[in-house]
Amino acid sequence: MLAVCPLATRTLSGGESCPMCGETAEAFPQSHIYPAWMGRLIQQDDKALVAFSSNRQYLPKMVMTHGVFDRIVCPACEKSFGPADAYFSRFWARKDRFETHHVSEDVRVNIFREVEVGLIQRFFLTCLYRAHLTQRPGYEYVNLGPYVKPIRDALEGPCRFFPDIDVVMFREAHKFANIIGSPHLVRLEGFRFQALTIPGFKALVKVDKKPLTGGLAYFLLQDVGSVVMLEMWRPTDAMWSTLGKAHEIHGDRIAQVSKLAFGR
Ligand SMILES: [Zn+2]
Repeated sequence: MLAVCPLATRTLSGGESCPMCGETAEAFPQSHIYPAWMGRLIQQDDKALVAFSSNRQYLPKMVMTHGVFDRIVCPACEKSFGPADAYFSRFWARKDRFETHHVSEDVRVNIFREVEVGLIQRFFLTCLYRAHLTQRPGYEYVNLGPYVKPIRDALEGPCRFFPDIDVVMFREAHKFANIIGSPHLVRLEGFRFQALTIPGFKALVKVDKKPLTGGLAYFLLQDVGSVVMLEMWRPTDAMWSTLGKAHEIHGDRIAQVSKLAFGR
């Protein structure tokens, strides 16, 4: 499942100012909102992906391309997304190398050691910022609140960890874990976050100025060379309700599209 809308791209007339660095560019290159390798990951074979929306009518649809792209920044800024995308791809490839700690019967914590936490944080911030800039359908609900400037400033600077931008990461280890979800607002424990769902993981980027307290604070990304994540080993209630809403809106169309895509 992937939110994908490969529509005609915006053309620039006589140069346009890059929303990230402010420089004028003759043309903006294509940027993926989530990197293309991630679309290939969940495609797994040469068949189509099925995209559906849990709140709008324009999906479901069968999708043959690897993700959403748009012309959103200048060539230099597009290039600056590369290192974090590349690092996260390598991190993803070794994603099964972690320790599991059974805190209680229901609670499992995964620890990933020897990782570049700054690049992992940056990866989620680049995806979120790209999602913020695009006008593609499916990204209307991206709202960075007071964090538009802090995130842009972080991405404009050198690759390093940003302690002032809070990111909480979860490992998704259940049967609906192999999906890509557009960023959207969630409220947890009284804080606003933008939630990004990617295959095997979820990240919450705090877009709320209140300092993070409570249980989620234990799982904040920190610049310590390792990442501690709560393992979501069964789908959350929110995920079930999202799937339920999609089915309410689209009903049998999901099954029809899926049959076209997968022949079953
Ligand atoms: Zn730029």
